[in-house]
Amino acid sequence: MFIAIDIGGTKTEVALGNKKGEIFQAKVIPAKADFDSFLAPLFSIIGDFSRNKKIKGISIAAPGPLDPQSGTIFSSPNLQWKNVCIKKILEEKFDFPVVLENDANLAGLGESICGAGKDASSIFYLTISTGIGGGFILGKEIYQGASFDAAEIGHTIVLPKGPKCNCGRRGCLEALCSGSAIAKKAKQRVSKNPHSLILKLAGNKKELITAQVVIQAVCQGDRLAREIWEETCYFLGIGIANMINLLNPQMVVIGGGVSRAGAVLFKPLRKIVKQTGWERAVKSCRIVKAKLKNPGIVGALIHISNIKNQISKTQTKNIKTEEVKAKGPRS
Ligand SMILES: [Zn+2]
Repeated sequence: MFIAIDIGGTKTEVALGNKKGEIFQAKVIPAKADFDSFLAPLFSIIGDFSRNKKIKGISIAAPGPLDPQSGTIFSSPNLQWKNVCIKKILEEKFDFPVVLENDANLAGLGESICGAGKDASSIFYLTISTGIGGGFILGKEIYQGASFDAAEIGHTIVLPKGPKCNCGRRGCLEALCSGSAIAKKAKQRVSKNPHSLILKLAGNKKELITAQVVIQAVCQGDRLAREIWEETCYFLGIGIANMINLLNPQMVVIGGGVSRAGAVLFKPLRKIVKQTGWERAVKSCRIVKAKLKNPGIVGALIHISNIKNQISKTQTKNIKTEEVKAKGPRS
């Protein structure tokens, strides 16, 4: 049995599950900007989950940038944490090994083993919600990259000199197509379009406009909403086509709140990808919606059991080598 923790911008989910990604119990902690006030409820849930059970480890999914080796979360724009060594903190408090990995990488792993990417040997996973995250899963394993920053599609620039991104640069895919970017664009444009359905659906309160409201208005044929949506799909399509050209994956799996738009998103997106991507690579790649409800948690459970297997294999190998050394060479 393992404990998985999925740290998000608005909430943290803690779950008890097994190596297959099956979840038996789950609890939610609302987001806390202050790290210490986040730890108290986390400790209490881990304590509850581990009572009278044999826990083999804790697996954490967190937004990057982070270092899985030292178990440090360097920064988190939505949570205002800086250089938090969460692995060390939890290993000191509890007697379990702790692993940390990027949340989009883990969600991709979850989808690749148990979700939409089950039958594919290479998938690129994208989550489009508050931000945009990515994970490249090759041969059912996470491709981490030289500094654990692989697949950061959200911060690839698709419109130089475009809107400012949370990372400090301009024109990132995240600054143009994330849920918050869609909402921001709609809030800016409704003033000049006071009759837009967007405002009506938000109860005539500009501050209540979200990406989901815009999607609703798109479905009802609102002109402004369609204009915003067309731009969103255009840049998203370019970003995905570039990534398909680069990695030639069998499948692109899209998750996160914005993916719930369904055909309204996927139909125009596939069209733009076809228009802008490399023909052979695009033809061999399916763009599909994610299937799992908690891909980060599922991926975290599978990831820690994979790591434990690798460690025990290495240990068995070392023991065998030691035995051979002790017996000496055969004559
Ligand atoms: Zn950026």
